[in-house]
Amino acid sequence: DLHSNHSEKYIFTSQLPRAPIPDNLTIPEYVLQDLDVYAHKIAVVDASDGRQYTYKEVGILVNNVAGGLIDLGLQKGDVVFVLLPNVAEYFILVLGIMSAGAVFSGCNPSSHPLEIQKHIQNSEAKVIITNAANFGKLGAVSHLPVILHGEQIIPGTIPVNRIFQADPRKFPIGVSISQDDICALPYSSGTTGASKGVMITHRNIISNLSQTLQDMEKIPREERLKGPQYCTLGMLPFFHIYGIAGIGFSTMRMKGKVVVMERYDLRKLLLTLIKYEVNFAPLVPPIILSLVKDPIVNEYDLKNLKLDAVMTAAAPLASELQNAFEHKFPRVEVRQAYGLTEYSCVTLSHCGPGHARGIAKRGSVGFLIPDTEMKFIDPETGHSLPANSPGEICVRGGATMKGYLKNPDATKATIDEQGWLHTGDVGYIDDDGDIFVVDRVKELIKYKGFQVPPAELEAILISHPSIEDVAVIPFPDQEAGEIPLACVVRKPESEITKEDIYNFVASQVTGYKKVRRVEFMDSIPKSSSGKILRRQVRATLMKRL
Ligand code: AMP
Repeated sequence: DLHSNHSEKYIFTSQLPRAPIPDNLTIPEYVLQDLDVYAHKIAVVDASDGRQYTYKEVGILVNNVAGGLIDLGLQKGDVVFVLLPNVAEYFILVLGIMSAGAVFSGCNPSSHPLEIQKHIQNSEAKVIITNAANFGKLGAVSHLPVILHGEQIIPGTIPVNRIFQADPRKFPIGVSISQDDICALPYSSGTTGASKGVMITHRNIISNLSQTLQDMEKIPREERLKGPQYCTLGMLPFFHIYGIAGIGFSTMRMKGKVVVMERYDLRKLLLTLIKYEVNFAPLVPPIILSLVKDPIVNEYDLKNLKLDAVMTAAAPLASELQNAFEHKFPRVEVRQAYGLTEYSCVTLSHCGPGHARGIAKRGSVGFLIPDTEMKFIDPETGHSLPANSPGEICVRGGATMKGYLKNPDATKATIDEQGWLHTGDVGYIDDDGDIFVVDRVKELIKYKGFQVPPAELEAILISHPSIEDVAVIPFPDQEAGEIPLACVVRKPESEITKEDIYNFVASQVTGYKKVRRVEFMDSIPKSSSGKILRRQVRATLMKRL
């Protein structure tokens, strides 16, 4: 019909050939394939104390963890809630969860206890994995079995070592896992509302990795074994799909080595890059900014870096920043990537020795990966747009999530009947196939690359007795990219101050979600159905400021 003609007139596909997607493997099988050949290579090392695991050890421990979880009564499809910072054992635990046919749901350990408890309840988790530092945040839900990572002992919890030494013979091979089964449940707010569980299957991730790794996979295994082992920095959070899959699984599939850092610290980052001769560092724009601007960097001998490339994703990278970085680190290639949790995890690849034209242009977020179609639609009419015309980015392909957990309405609003995932981002493709992200139509705010769903902050603010109405919108910030700004309508006669409002929110959310600016307004522009007209709020405010 006419409508679908318009909506599918301009569809773009990859110029790269489609790589075969192994269709009979689960994630752990895919990631740990060829284990015997690489048995004695290091898979993962923890930069905090140098403890490390070979591929052989990882293989054994993954089986033990699966056995240990089943021993605890975990059944296929059950959710395991993981509240841990980045640690070397993170991958082993997640692969063990997936081997048992269960679902990994990671959470930012910096979350507020209220956010953590909401996540556990919403995901209906059956087992929790955390450490002593975070145990206290579990509150009333701590009646669930808790596996405790680290040396400390807390009565009533199960030491992780007991799970690591579990007898894998108890693992019933009978449990059959299909590629369409859910293996991960990260949380994302999507285009609107609060955080929702994103149902990701084994096949989603395998499809995504197969397409992004195909150039490396073409190099024969013997060849790869001869060369030095590739080393990737594991510093971006593993609770995020990009950290666990894009960094962890992808490096382990290629039998490289992941160097794990618990959190970002500029000095430790530089020391780690030098000490472990890291080749590839996935970062986010605020860290690139520090590497360019912070005088600490000048204390280190950058000649000792073995870094070939940094990848930046999660938020836009300004071209001036890229220039400045390349000036300071002339031997390091900068790649920008774009992706989202709902498309487990990347839709574009920046480089591609196999690509007709090599490296993507400056400012571009990359080329389309195979097995993924993209179109750019006019948000008003839904019509697809030709090259060079910015529109809402829609993607379709093997990595599209199965849907939002227990939320068919949000799923339907995000994945349309033709299977297109509406990203809420605005971008365009040029005549060479380079894609540029230029704006966002969804509500989401990204503070240093972390998701801040305005709806969550609005729900908190509106519960304050002195606040009549509120809208939270992104406000540009050089260091963080964006900060959450609250436009507040006070109740008549209320004397609530900006300070009161900052504190009220800060007591209920994690640090990166804090409201960092407040503007008082007379009213919040709304549609006839009561929806906040965010663009109008933004425009009114910008005029005033
Ligand atoms: P998440 O699901 O947390 O990975 O967030 C995905 C969102 O981050 C995307 O929908 C974009 O809004 C934003 N994003 C990711 N990568 C980029 C990029 N390279 N440039 C601009 N925005 C990005």
